[in-house]
Amino acid sequence: MRITILGSGTSLGTPIIGCDCPVCKSPDPRNHRLRASILVETAHQRLLVDVGPDFRAQALRENIRVLDAVLITHEHSDHIAGLDDLRVFGWYARRPVVIYSSRTVKEFIETRFDYAFRPPQEGTGVPTLDLRIIETPVQLDDVRITPLTVLHGVWEILAFRFNNFAYVTDCSRMPDASKAKLKGVRCLVLNALRREPHPTHLSLDEAIALGHEIGAEQTWFTHMTHALEHEATNKSLPAGFALAYDGLKIEVKDE
Ligand SMILES: [Zn+2]
Ligand SMILES: [Zn+2]
Ligand SMILES: [Zn+2]
Repeated sequence: MRITILGSGTSLGTPIIGCDCPVCKSPDPRNHRLRASILVETAHQRLLVDVGPDFRAQALRENIRVLDAVLITHEHSDHIAGLDDLRVFGWYARRPVVIYSSRTVKEFIETRFDYAFRPPQEGTGVPTLDLRIIETPVQLDDVRITPLTVLHGVWEILAFRFNNFAYVTDCSRMPDASKAKLKGVRCLVLNALRREPHPTHLSLDEAIALGHEIGAEQTWFTHMTHALEHEATNKSLPAGFALAYDGLKIEVKDE
């Protein structure tokens, strides 16, 4: 299985509009972070997790032409604002784009993108979306997708395990039942906002502690603000931990 980090930034991205800090002005491309999203590729499938406002640029950069399914962690704009750009995938595949999410997110998408669920005016292009609820593990061809609940502040949102790999973003706390579902993952991508604590996202130290508890061979951090300079922060991390960056490709061995 191959994971591509499409974006490793927070809702504002890095650089932040109008910010002159050294990270926003850094010439190191690893400090340039589009909004958080990943592509999961197996021998048979291409799956997308989250469709933020940078999705169009990410799809062009990585030459994404086919998507077998899309999974949504939660309804914050930095995770769904690009849904309209799924239009072309429906045209190419000649079928609606399958989207898995919680019931809450499904209902939110039906409201925010209401025009996609009404007959369009002639000449108007709308995305064709096949919204499905995921509450228990789903076997999609060669991938078993296990949804797990994590807390994003007081909200319950979804994270996903794909065979031996897991993607957890926008988490501030993980219930024990969800940690149990991650037992044995070889590779984990986990959010780490900044060094200072935050009410709705794990700080770097909290993410390291949770990463140790989960115990993947390799843990990559994502959903980072401009407060984390890539090179300096990466050097400070314990063995088995590293900062992800946009365009990073991770190979995860199937057992
Ligand atoms: Zn987010
Ligand atoms: Zn900045
Ligand atoms: Zn969020």
